Amino acid sequence: MKLKQKIHNKTMKIFILFTCMVFILSACSNATDKDYEEFKQTFFAMDTFITLTAYGKNADAVLKEAENKMAELESLWSVTDEKSEVFTINHSKGNAVEISNVTADLLAFALQMASQTDGALDPTIYPVVDAWGFTGEENRIPESHELARLLGRVGYDKVKLNGNKVIVPDGTEVDFGAVGKGYAGDILSGLLMDAGIRSSLIDLGGNIQAVGSKPDGSDWKIGIRNPLGDGNLGVLSVSDRAVVTSGSYERYFVGEDGKEYGHIIDPETGYPAESGLLSVTVIAKQGKLCDALSTSLFVMGLDKAMDYWNQYQDFDMILVTEQQEIYLTEGIQSQIELDGAWSSNGIHVIKTGK
Ligand code: AMP
Ligand code: MG
Repeated sequence: MKLKQKIHNKTMKIFILFTCMVFILSACSNATDKDYEEFKQTFFAMDTFITLTAYGKNADAVLKEAENKMAELESLWSVTDEKSEVFTINHSKGNAVEISNVTADLLAFALQMASQTDGALDPTIYPVVDAWGFTGEENRIPESHELARLLGRVGYDKVKLNGNKVIVPDGTEVDFGAVGKGYAGDILSGLLMDAGIRSSLIDLGGNIQAVGSKPDGSDWKIGIRNPLGDGNLGVLSVSDRAVVTSGSYERYFVGEDGKEYGHIIDPETGYPAESGLLSVTVIAKQGKLCDALSTSLFVMGLDKAMDYWNQYQDFDMILVTEQQEIYLTEGIQSQIELDGAWSSNGIHVIKTGK
């Protein structure tokens, strides 16, 4: 072979190699562009603003589906919509009601968590929440005899669930205010993943469900609200986790006596829980567990919440006390970056057995 031809062949090879590389790179970058494409859907459901963010090719269509799913769940669980299953249960006058699989599953979970938390979570607390005016526009301080009378209608053990059949005594009402959003978050994340979405952030009014990680593979950064004012307590780095916070700061009123009354009720007393905590954040795989626990650990207070964690340990938590001290479980310690003033407050790491 002549030298000139050899050079020509070599040049051809380099050219072909280069062209292939450009093709491969551009194919990669095309796929990447689509994978990174961001879609957002914002709407109002379950009494809160919802923002769904998802990345990927068909994410816009999937988000629309997710919005429809939320509307469907709300129409099943609304306490006020006369056509909802919850409304039907609450007006059944002691008769058996046949409910859908999804509502039966949520009710079974709520009852299980009620028993597991010794009634700190109680899906039948609604009449008491209503008496305090947290379901409507106007808050009031009920008389203690009124609360005692209403508490007679409350008690998760009054609810009899057998498969899809539920019986509640006349006067007892169920409500998923403390668990429904977390459960809905699980359903939405399942729906998104089934549709091939690997990166999404579901924000149900602060109940966060992170599907996968950010499109670049890094953790999502989730702001945890400062329970004492504007801004964040800190920022949490997580992938594939739900993060749910409960606190009286979310909804409260100041009574004529100048006292603050929060929306999380201690089912033992009928009064807003005063357990010495400002907020409870729970981090776990399942949104429903986070939602159920953030409410009930808030009712329990610091010591009982730590005992509960020690017993189950299938979640992480961040507790903020009225003394502005922070208690967090060891699993989450390296994931949180506390904001300004909070980082100089007392920080206690909760470890197994302590
Ligand atoms: P969350 O924001 O998830 O902590 O839920 C609080 C909401 O659940 C309140 O606004 C009430 O509607 C309802 N609720 C209040 N106290 C309780 C309780 N102890 N158990 C179950 N639901 C409650
Ligand atoms: Mg909750």
